Formats: sequence, structure tokens, C-alpha cells
Amino acid sequence: MKIAIMGAGLSGLACGITLEKHGMSPTIFERRGVVGDRFVNGEIMLSILNRPINNSIGYLSEEYGIHLKPTGNIKELRIFSENKEASIKGQLGFSNIRGRDEDSYEMQLYKQFRGNVVFNSRYTYEELLQDFTHVILATGDAADAKKIQNYKEELTVTIRGVMVEGDFDRYKAAAWLDNNFAPQGYGYCIPISEEEANIVIAYPDYPHNKEMDINQLWSNFYDRACRDLKQDLRITDKFEITRYIIGMCQYPRIGNTFFVGNNFGSIMPFLGFGQFAAILTGVYGAKDILGQGKYEELTNHLRKSYNNSLVLRRSLEKLNNQKLDLLVGSMNNRVVERIFNTKHADPLRYLAYLLRPLSRK
Ligand SMILES: Cc1cc2nc3c(=O)[nH]c(=O)nc-3n(C[C@H](O)[C@H](O)[C@H](O)COP(=O)(O)OP(=O)(O)OC[C@H]3O[C@@H](n4cnc5c(N)ncnc54)[C@H](O)[C@@H]3O)c2cc1C
Repeated sequence: MKIAIMGAGLSGLACGITLEKHGMSPTIFERRGVVGDRFVNGEIMLSILNRPINNSIGYLSEEYGIHLKPTGNIKELRIFSENKEASIKGQLGFSNIRGRDEDSYEMQLYKQFRGNVVFNSRYTYEELLQDFTHVILATGDAADAKKIQNYKEELTVTIRGVMVEGDFDRYKAAAWLDNNFAPQGYGYCIPISEEEANIVIAYPDYPHNKEMDINQLWSNFYDRACRDLKQDLRITDKFEITRYIIGMCQYPRIGNTFFVGNNFGSIMPFLGFGQFAAILTGVYGAKDILGQGKYEELTNHLRKSYNNSLVLRRSLEKLNNQKLDLLVGSMNNRVVERIFNTKHADPLRYLAYLLRPLSRK
């Protein structure tokens, strides 16, 4: 077997590492000159979104021998709406760095891959398909899957973020639900150290949102973040992503092509989390090639989570600021905290079941 992996990101490297562990020698083709050569940002794996798995980092390590060192374990999540605030405490998940940083998750995975990475690759999918028996499409851009198959694009998102210097607790993250600056979306703050954090807004590109002035939205958010975090934040870097696709492929595997990571549909629509699913799809693709399961079946639970997550997103999108205040206000109680800290049960699945009739457009 000759296996090409297109993309040295989370899913591609996870696939490569798993294949190597079983004696295969895949070649990874990476468009950039160095792994992770893009802006630095902070990301999170939130336990409640990966249930029944509770400890995502431990799970990857024990089940698949993929070892990741997070920046911190999140012990408190503060959630703000226009007029309310909630604080949820517990073992909520893990934060990590992405991009151009020695400790980014892609760099950590790269260090665990011993095989060949062809950097600055300009090979197309079609060219790789000619030269290799198997191709893993791991480019992180669902537009590539859309060219090949019936990929159902559910929405696209505009993301604007900055890296800021300030005074942070690396175990505390914050999120904002406020249509004044993140219409039908959210803002968040993820510390990557005690001195640096990433603050970001992300909102869907629906026609009425596109009419809004992003600079005004951003300025509203930035003022609000400084106010809620009680400090003047100093911006050190900026990034913006437009038309970030959230959707799901129809066929996880076509012939000997495997769609992994964002090309599969790993981003969960509710809050845009995709790292854990991306790594799992890479591992599952490898398992199929190794004869240890069928990719379609292995990814089935991710497809179900995606559909539940979509229901939650559609429900959240319908809430105006008054209702978001009610929602956030109601989170400040022990029952919610217990739900976040319940191990193994999947409360979001039940919530999606209850909200399904309301989520329809
Ligand atoms: C700003 C932002 C914040 C996010 N925050 C979170 C978060 O907090 N939690 C979370 O779980 N998820 C988050 N996500 C989603 C998560 O980052 C993705 O779901 C995950 O990285 C997808 O992994 P992947 O392997 O598909 O792609 P990536 O990890 O992006 O890797 C793709 C790789 O393919 C390479 N490539 C692209 N085109 C080609 C080509 N033609 N040939 C060869 N190589 C190519 C790229 O250079 C890159 O190295 C966030 C995403 C963004 C954009």
C-alpha cells in the first residue's frame, strides 16, 4: 500500500502516527514550509462536548498512543450575556495553543511522527490519487471536500481574533453570548499563559449579519472584554478568517480516499469545536486502512454528535439578548455545574432531543 496524507494538521498527523505505529510508512504532503506556520491562537477541548468521553487528552493517550500536553486544564468558565454573568467550575476541559508555536498541538503531533513530510507541496488531490493507492484528504478546508463530493455546507462563519497581553489565569476561560457584537455567535477569551490570551468573535455569515459593520462589532466586543476582564488589554497580533465552512460530508470514504478532519465535518456547529473529532477521524481512517474497522461505522458517533450540535446551534441562534440573559442567568446554579461535571453521561444529546422541534427554521 502507498498512502498519501494531504495536510500535516491535526487529522493528517493523527492518521500518520497511527499508521506508523502499525508498521506502515505514509507520506504526508504539507502545503506550508513548516508545520503550523500560521497565526497563533488558543483553542479548547471542552469535556461536556465529547461525552461519553470525559478526559479527551487521557483517552487519546490510552486508546491510541497519541500524547498531547495542553496549556492548562480549564477549571472555570465564565459566561457573559448583555446583562448577566454565570460562572461554572469543575474539570471542564483543556486549553491549548495552535499555529506557529513550539508547543502547538500540530507541532506536538509532528514530533510524534517519524516518517516523511513533503513541505511546500503543490501536489493536487488528483495527482496524489494517481501515484498512491490511498489518499487521506486532511487539508482542514471543507472546500476541498466540496469539490469531490456532496458535502453539505450548513453555514459559514466570520472569525476575528487578536492575541492580547494582560494578566490571566490560565485555568479560566470566558465566553460571551451577546448579539451586540457576535450576532447569533459568540465571543471568547482563551488564555495561553498567565500573560497572553486570545480573544475572538465568531458569527455566522447570514445575510442580515453580513450587513453589519465588523469593525463596529469588534470594537463593541473589545470594550466589553476589557470591561469584563477588568483590564486594558494590549493587542500583539491579529487574525481574521472569512467563510469558515461548517458542514458534513455525505461519504466519509470514496474508493480509497478518506475525508478526515474538517473535510469530514469535524467542526461541531454549536460552538465550532473540532479538534478532538479531527484527531479521531485521522485515527479512524488509519484503522480502516489497517483492517481494524470500517471508517463509515467508526465515524458514525461523530456524525450523530454533529447533528445534535446543529440542533443546539439552531436553537441558540433564535435567542435575542433578553433570552440570552435568561439563559445565562439560569446557569448560575449547582444543577448546571453538576451537569458540566457529570462524567460519562451526555447531557447535550438529551438537550438536543428536547430542542429538536424548536430548532427547525
Ligand atoms: C480561529 C479558530 C478557532 C478554533 N477554536 C477551536 C477550539 O477552541 N476548539 C476546537 O476543538 N476547535 C476549534 N477550532 C476548530 C479546529 O481548529 C479544527 O476543527 C481542526 O484544526 C481541524 O483539523 P484538520 O486536521 O481538519 O485541519 P488543520 O489542523 O487545520 O490542518 C490542515 C493542514 O493541511 C494543510 N493544507 C491545506 N491545504 C493543503 C494542500 N492543498 N496540500 C497540502 N496541505 C494542505 C494546512 O497547511 C494544514 O497544515 C477552531 C478553528 C479556528 C479557525
